[in-house]
Amino acid sequence: MDFERAMIVFAHPDDGEFGSAGTVAVWTERGTQVAYVCVTDGSAGSNEASADRDELAALREREQRAAAEVLGVEDCTFLGIRDGMVEVTLDLRRALTREVRRFRPDVLVIPDPSRLWDQERTYINHTDHRAVGMACVAVANPDSSTRPMFPELLDEGFEPFELPHLWMPTWGEDADTFVDITETIEKKIEALRCHASQIHDWPVDEWIRARAKERGAPQGMEYAESFRTFRLREDRD
Ligand SMILES: [Zn+2]
Repeated sequence: MDFERAMIVFAHPDDGEFGSAGTVAVWTERGTQVAYVCVTDGSAGSNEASADRDELAALREREQRAAAEVLGVEDCTFLGIRDGMVEVTLDLRRALTREVRRFRPDVLVIPDPSRLWDQERTYINHTDHRAVGMACVAVANPDSSTRPMFPELLDEGFEPFELPHLWMPTWGEDADTFVDITETIEKKIEALRCHASQIHDWPVDEWIRARAKERGAPQGMEYAESFRTFRLREDRD
């Protein structure tokens, strides 16, 4: 798990923090370079009649950058697609492929595209999460590794890149990898609090601790995040 470079792709500002901020903080503390790619502008993150979508988008980008700083993430890209309207298009696949070929991560962390709802059936997964996940699995194969895919990226200097590892945060029973976040849970909570426009006075501290405890306990960890992982190519050396 000692990756040199990790890239986290997510749909909305704050998704990355909910799914993997504890793990990201563990990685950056160990010297892993981490890049964030936020696909949407987060501009549907308010039901207030007076909300201005462009103002909200600007605010949410600032909140996301502040959260990234807490976690030691120095590389933040915003693709700016309208919140709620993500589709798996060739344009999105090209944009994500550009980021992956540029950064050449050892591990790509993405939303699980197969998740339609939670196990308890109390939550329908957001369509943007699934669409971003689906675009990302296309990037994993064939887009990033295959020379004839998006030849225009070659003109921009982005050579093909074969992803070694793909991880998907999961709260479900399909988890195969648990990361001990006992030392970084405070940073995860601090990073989530940066998303003040979304958190309001919600007791994020309690909620995060309860979930991380539930994940960690069977593994003998105080707090954990859990992932479904894929090994797509053997590491070099
Ligand atoms: Zn989201």
